Amino acid sequence: MSTLRFTDPAHWDAVENHLADAPAERFAFALTRTLTDGADGPVLQVEDVELVHDGEVERDRTGSTIADAALDRVHNRAVTGQQGLVEFHSHGHGPPGFSRTDEAALYPMAKYVVDLLDGRPYGAAVWAEGAVHADWFRPVDGTIQRGAFRSVTVVGDRFRLLNARNADEVRFSRQIPMLTRAGQAALRGLRVAVVGGGGTGSHAIILLAYLGIRDFLLLDDDVIETSNLNRVVTAELADIDAPKTLVAKRRILALDPDATVQTMPGVTPFGDHPELLEVDLIVGCVDHDGPRHRLNELAVDAGVPYIDIGTGVDANIDPPITGARVAFVLSGGPCLSCTDELDAAEVARWYKPAEQQNLDRAHGYGTGEPDPSVVHLNGLAVNAAVAEIVTWITGARPPAPRLDIDLDGDPALPGTRITPSCDTTRRPGCVVCSWRYPSEPSTSAA
Ligand SMILES: [Zn+2]
Ligand SMILES: [Zn+2]
Repeated sequence: MSTLRFTDPAHWDAVENHLADAPAERFAFALTRTLTDGADGPVLQVEDVELVHDGEVERDRTGSTIADAALDRVHNRAVTGQQGLVEFHSHGHGPPGFSRTDEAALYPMAKYVVDLLDGRPYGAAVWAEGAVHADWFRPVDGTIQRGAFRSVTVVGDRFRLLNARNADEVRFSRQIPMLTRAGQAALRGLRVAVVGGGGTGSHAIILLAYLGIRDFLLLDDDVIETSNLNRVVTAELADIDAPKTLVAKRRILALDPDATVQTMPGVTPFGDHPELLEVDLIVGCVDHDGPRHRLNELAVDAGVPYIDIGTGVDANIDPPITGARVAFVLSGGPCLSCTDELDAAEVARWYKPAEQQNLDRAHGYGTGEPDPSVVHLNGLAVNAAVAEIVTWITGARPPAPRLDIDLDGDPALPGTRITPSCDTTRRPGCVVCSWRYPSEPSTSAA
């Protein structure tokens, strides 16, 4: 599941403005870091971009080519930075795709570049009318393997899927007027991981499937128990003892047989979880701060957008509040550790070996009653989270970095409250995210 992800929107803006700014063919490069290199292709994060100026382009009757000196400059940068390269060029009209002239040059260039880059991947992309087609190339057993990137995304205040395909279908006809054609197409093209298939996860899975998400990765270790039947909306009585991921998969496929649903066990303390690096969005529906911490780390490291949903009773506040919290962890923004969301003791216990955890429990640590969990609170939290996800993906507005959902409300004005918070400041020195982001977004683009 190959992906090319711009986690600094300024990088993509520089490339797109450059490509769109002239009728003549123009060129730009993305310098990439390989997050994982799976069977279905590489997962790349853009670290920087380099624009090719008009004086560096040679034009004749057959088309435009980049002058050798400019190519050398870009290639040398990628060699020095131990990065991969993706070349972008513009076409005057869409839909974007390689011309016959482009095709003739692709393999020789890919072979030359992957040799130069010690096997790191090369990519080539065509931009036209705001959309992108991009292919990756990598060396396999002495030959060059090629494939199309499953997704090319820009993660910022506004989310963009640059290689979205039309999803103008009758089943979405009542929502496209609200979500827009482009928004529906973006939803259609995303691969979303939902971590946890329980009280909140089951709601999230169903809502996302109805909205038109068709590519799911579901992670959970648990099976349906009788005590889940008050809230796991994917499950029925007959599903007792069935894996939560399986009952969720059945529901998605019953709604849309064309959906792709992959299921896996849940997150582990020290797993690399490459499967989570290649998705376009992680929806965290776990009920423990250990996995929440791990998801936060993975998302920050790979620049994968991560939405965390938590419900329960906050006993740290007097009087205790029954409610929920939705947090968006977006590249460059505050992470869950910045905002002190996580219970450090609970996180630390989760990272301990099983024997030590058993000892802890024998000594009375981590043996408290699980928080209450009820279907309407889960539903409220997930609906609020999904509303933010949709406004973000469709470009209607940026998402709230955080939502607080409070069932108790204000004694003077009783009623459920959903309160957005706009605090986007990262905590200086945060152990999870401060090393990943420079204090100021940087680009060498001219
Ligand atoms: Zn072309
Ligand atoms: Zn942080």
